[in-house]
Amino acid sequence: MEKSIVSKILIVGCGLTGSVTANLIRHEASSNTEIWERGNNVGGRFYTYHSDTDPKFSVDFGAQYFTATLEFIRSQARPIFKLHRWQPLSFATTCSLFVNDGSSLRIYDELLDMDKLVPLGQKIENFRRLSEGKMNFVAPDGTDSLVKHFLDKADAKMCLDHEVTEINLKESEKVWEVKTSSGTVKEFDAVILTIPVPEVLKLKGNFHDLIQDDDTRIALEQVKYSSRFAVALLYKEPMKSIEELPWSMKYFPKDDTICFVSVDNRKRGRNSEIPSVLVHTAKKFFEDREWSEEEVKNHIVDYIKQILPELPEPTLTKCVKWPYSQVIDAYVDNPGCLVLNEYPCLICGGDSFTESNFNGCISSALRIVEELLKHVSIAISSKKAKHSEA
Ligand SMILES: Cc1cc2nc3c(=O)[nH]c(=O)nc-3n(C[C@H](O)[C@H](O)[C@H](O)COP(=O)(O)OP(=O)(O)OC[C@H]3O[C@@H](n4cnc5c(N)ncnc54)[C@H](O)[C@@H]3O)c2cc1C
Repeated sequence: MEKSIVSKILIVGCGLTGSVTANLIRHEASSNTEIWERGNNVGGRFYTYHSDTDPKFSVDFGAQYFTATLEFIRSQARPIFKLHRWQPLSFATTCSLFVNDGSSLRIYDELLDMDKLVPLGQKIENFRRLSEGKMNFVAPDGTDSLVKHFLDKADAKMCLDHEVTEINLKESEKVWEVKTSSGTVKEFDAVILTIPVPEVLKLKGNFHDLIQDDDTRIALEQVKYSSRFAVALLYKEPMKSIEELPWSMKYFPKDDTICFVSVDNRKRGRNSEIPSVLVHTAKKFFEDREWSEEEVKNHIVDYIKQILPELPEPTLTKCVKWPYSQVIDAYVDNPGCLVLNEYPCLICGGDSFTESNFNGCISSALRIVEELLKHVSIAISSKKAKHSEA
């Protein structure tokens, strides 16, 4: 069957999967791609809070660090993309996808060369032993800098405050009509959803009719996430007692209230900057009852006083709720993505189809674009075609 030609592509969600997908599409063709993000910032679960008053002051609220093998990343260099055949996810497979000699698809390499990712260089307290050769990395400019890096090269139109609520197939025109909570309605030739599966299932529209197959619906409904809060304790000036803590990240494996604490500036190797302490609550704490953000902040500040009495009183606290934090049960067999419809193309991806980490998102983005290109040819937008002719 001949491939359909698409010119207008919509990516829903601007986390790591969405930004890398946009970047990979740009790598293939200069298309008319838009990204619709419901929040007023990019990053998703790679969210970093940046202070309005002090550009140096920021805190990672979601993902904290990334695990990879430096030698492997650097040593693997082979052409991959268009002809790559998908294999089940493994760390080695994932890394081998990252490097494409002679072309611009060098995802890990590029981040390391540009110091967007640097080795952690510190021990994490109560951390499981890393298997041989693996290393932890951090993003010195904040985890959202990774998403911004991919976005900058994607050449896609970014639309913040665009919460998709409904997706309908217009069969006669072979397009998707997409609606947002603020009333925007627009048609696209292909739609890529990079939001957690439970959120896909909450969307309205006749696209649900495409999930007629009971096995697929059940498999989608079985995707499960953990939930947690992230609370940041913010300070106005350097604090000796924080500088003197013997760790920059610590897990609390037996605690029902919190599971992880990091001294964010130290984690990123920025010891001299104003400190901030980030706390992730335990799964049980979230599930215990309905909490308001104010209650969570007060409770966590009091609790931290008990278990880490050396920490000073914070000047300010901030709280983020992560109802879909990390995947507990991914989509069966971790396929990387799921094609809900071939023509017009509708694809779901993100960590629901892999695993909740950097590699999982990159693998999903690669799979999404691989599937997209199986079903469509991307038409170069007329504006961009003129531009490149000039
Ligand atoms: C507390 C926490 C700690 C973590 N720690 C680590 C770690 O240390 N290392 C690691 O590698 N990973 C970690 N992870 C996991 C990692 O953050 C995720 O796997 C990854 O960010 C998922 O990226 P994504 O792009 O697939 O999804 P997301 O980042 O969730 O992006 C989806 C985007 O879609 C938007 N969206 C949702 N619904 C709609 C809609 N209807 N319309 C428009 N936009 C919508 C969301 O606002 C979001 O921006 C952690 C996650 C959390 C929450």
